[in-house]
Amino acid sequence: MLREEISNFIKTIMEKDLEAGFVSEIVTRFPPEPNAYLHLGHARALVMNFELAKYFNGRTNLRFDDTNPSKEEAEFVEAIIRDVEWLGYKPYKITFGSDYFEAKFQYAVKLIKKGLAYVDDLSQDEIREYRGTLTEPGKNSPYRDRSVEENLRLFEEMRQGKYQDGEKVLRAKIDMSHPNLNMRDPVLYRIMHVEHHRQGNKWCIYPMYDFAHPLQDAIEGITHSLCSLEYENHRILYDWVVENCKTPHVPQQIEFGRLNITNTIMSKRYLRELVEKGKVEGYDDPRMPTLVGLKRRGYTPEAIKNFIIATGLSRTNSTVESDMLEHFLREDLKMKAKRLMAVINPLKVIITNFPEGKVEYLDAPNNVENPDLGTRKIAFSRNLYIDRNDFVLEKPNKHYKRLALGLEVRLFHAYFIKAHDVIYDENGNIEAVLCTYDPETKSGSGFSARKPNGTIHFVEASTARPATFNLFEPLIIDDETDGRSFLERLNPNSWLVKEGYIENAPEGFAELDRFQFIREGYFAVDKTSSTERLVFNRIVPLKSSFR
Ligand code: ATP
Ligand code: MG
Repeated sequence: MLREEISNFIKTIMEKDLEAGFVSEIVTRFPPEPNAYLHLGHARALVMNFELAKYFNGRTNLRFDDTNPSKEEAEFVEAIIRDVEWLGYKPYKITFGSDYFEAKFQYAVKLIKKGLAYVDDLSQDEIREYRGTLTEPGKNSPYRDRSVEENLRLFEEMRQGKYQDGEKVLRAKIDMSHPNLNMRDPVLYRIMHVEHHRQGNKWCIYPMYDFAHPLQDAIEGITHSLCSLEYENHRILYDWVVENCKTPHVPQQIEFGRLNITNTIMSKRYLRELVEKGKVEGYDDPRMPTLVGLKRRGYTPEAIKNFIIATGLSRTNSTVESDMLEHFLREDLKMKAKRLMAVINPLKVIITNFPEGKVEYLDAPNNVENPDLGTRKIAFSRNLYIDRNDFVLEKPNKHYKRLALGLEVRLFHAYFIKAHDVIYDENGNIEAVLCTYDPETKSGSGFSARKPNGTIHFVEASTARPATFNLFEPLIIDDETDGRSFLERLNPNSWLVKEGYIENAPEGFAELDRFQFIREGYFAVDKTSSTERLVFNRIVPLKSSFR
């Protein structure tokens, strides 16, 4: 997909701003809070910020919004940097909101001096009570009219650590009867005696998001500050902060709708719960909608980017079918991936008219749709495996296009085989199918005297390598008809493990190598795979199967 294909209302705004000379270039930022791993929802913000700036030859900062101190941030910072890199983006700068703590403090002092901010002694509960409601105006705090001098002294003392958490806050002095509750003297700073992952114990007062974010944007020269819809009624405060702090640069906040996907959950809190309750292997569990999970599963960055771009940007939140993401993976790998043969539910086949001990090597194209991927040799002998689902004793109906006793099928890139008998094990299960092959029907020979009853895949037993196949279904099943929580809607079949065989590829199987296994889907080598034990994740089946 071309970058030119991005078309959305934000691009239109940017075009107009450039034309009108409001801005001379486009500068965006992707502002994750480093308290979680990125998920597909974040990918929408990430891809759009980078792609839009790139389209206009602008730039994008990766800015960690770390103004709220918390514990495990360093791990998340590194993970997010790797995710951005994996998607193929290079931030113009990597910055931290906390780097601007001093500048923000000075802007707060400026507001106090202008009579636009004051130190309040009301408790959190009292502040809430005084705020009023949508239908009732709020009440002024009794501390609202402190003098500038007193406010400056108290704010400095707050910074020095003279007060306990919650004892005082700094608030903007705007309007306690403003129709937008966010404008009723919002809190700008709170006291938190908490260590910060980068600033250590330097600070015990921390700015609130609504004060910090516009200032960070202004300081970095961001022209278009994109955020999700829930910030829409904070925009008025964003503009108030920028205007009254008289920042040298004036950024513009624009909201877009959040991305949701069916049969998955996309909230940090829920994803954390899945990990902490041990419902998944970790953030990179191949069923997780995190970028690290999708990467491990085998998703390509291109598939994710194309999916995000195709879902577009609108002013409303949207829910997209999970099938759509699968579609973009298939599109991406269709021509790129080699098509090998793997048997996931093995059933032995003995070719009774093929000499014992001999292995014949046949030429097979690596991708019938893309000759550039070359050819390889595949093995054929007396002992093969086919998929158990490709054999029944008796043809059940005329639509059945696989193997049965008395029927002849083609083996991909090899010969026609015809089943004449079966061997049972001691439990009465079919252990092997006895077949004959017809040497005349060799693939590529142009044989056309008979039509086989379908074409199935196989591997040669002595050269094939045992392999584990991880098959996935959605982790969660959407069911809006009942009120069950997402933990109760976990899909018990979300991870199926199968033991089978794969043809031996001389170049080996390195982590994240991706293949199409003929008739089974697209697979990637899992991180737990080794030369002794190959492990493959099915990224997606060949056709959408789950509804
Ligand atoms: P969550 O809702 O999962 O807790 P968040 O919004 O708190 O996520 P941030 O780290 O603040 O996570 O998000 C970074 C950026 O990603 C923000 O600009 C945010 O608006 C955006 N974002 C997060 N989730 C989505 C989503 N589902 N769709 C679009 N953008 C999103
Ligand atoms: Mg957030």
